[in-house]
Amino acid sequence: MLFEDLSLSKSIQKAVHEEGYTHPTPIQEQSIPIVLSGRDLIGCAQTGTGKTAAFAIPIIHQLHRIVGSSKKAKEIRALIVTPTRELAVQIGQNFDTYAKYTNLKQITLFGGVSQVPQVDTLKKGVDVVIATPGRLLDLHKQGFINFDYLHTLVLDEADQMLDMGFINDVKKIVKLTPNNRQTLLFSATMPIAIRELAEMFLKDPAKVEV
Ligand code: AMP
Repeated sequence: MLFEDLSLSKSIQKAVHEEGYTHPTPIQEQSIPIVLSGRDLIGCAQTGTGKTAAFAIPIIHQLHRIVGSSKKAKEIRALIVTPTRELAVQIGQNFDTYAKYTNLKQITLFGGVSQVPQVDTLKKGVDVVIATPGRLLDLHKQGFINFDYLHTLVLDEADQMLDMGFINDVKKIVKLTPNNRQTLLFSATMPIAIRELAEMFLKDPAKVEV
């Protein structure tokens, strides 16, 4: 299969092409059509398999269609929750790359740094938030984050979030989002606590394993 067989908008195809990618990786080939269909997804995949693009590309495609030329104020449409600053930054770079020919705006939020620039960017309006759990909840508590328009929630590296003690924060975050959201959960392993999390928060998910 080629990327051009995935019916992605031209602006995304161009960005993917410029990265030199012609063929989707197995996790991308399986996940992209499912995410585009609007279904929930459990992806069992390690870092290095191309899993970031497996959710970033279809999310950008959906959002580009929803908000593409809209002049309305930007609202948070996609939220990616990930355990560490390093992963958040990497995911942010992926969104920058694949969304460079769209007018989508994104922000990467993590703790250990001043919240002032983060709040300034949030106030200007963003479509995509990539965040670690603690800073996200903190900014939400202060009223800087509104999930009313959220379309897609991604729980990335769910097993690592569990290991790092973020599971209750993750549950709190999910409960703040609309019930009719699309939920994607990625995890390298599927311990019982992650399966329970999926059962609690995902609706009839498709399962992809690589
Ligand atoms: P990830 O698993 O998301 O951390 O991605 C691992 C690496 O694979 C990253 O350096 C990506 O830039 C690269 N990559 C992602 N998708 C593709 C693709 N379809 N073809 C070749 N490389 C890719």
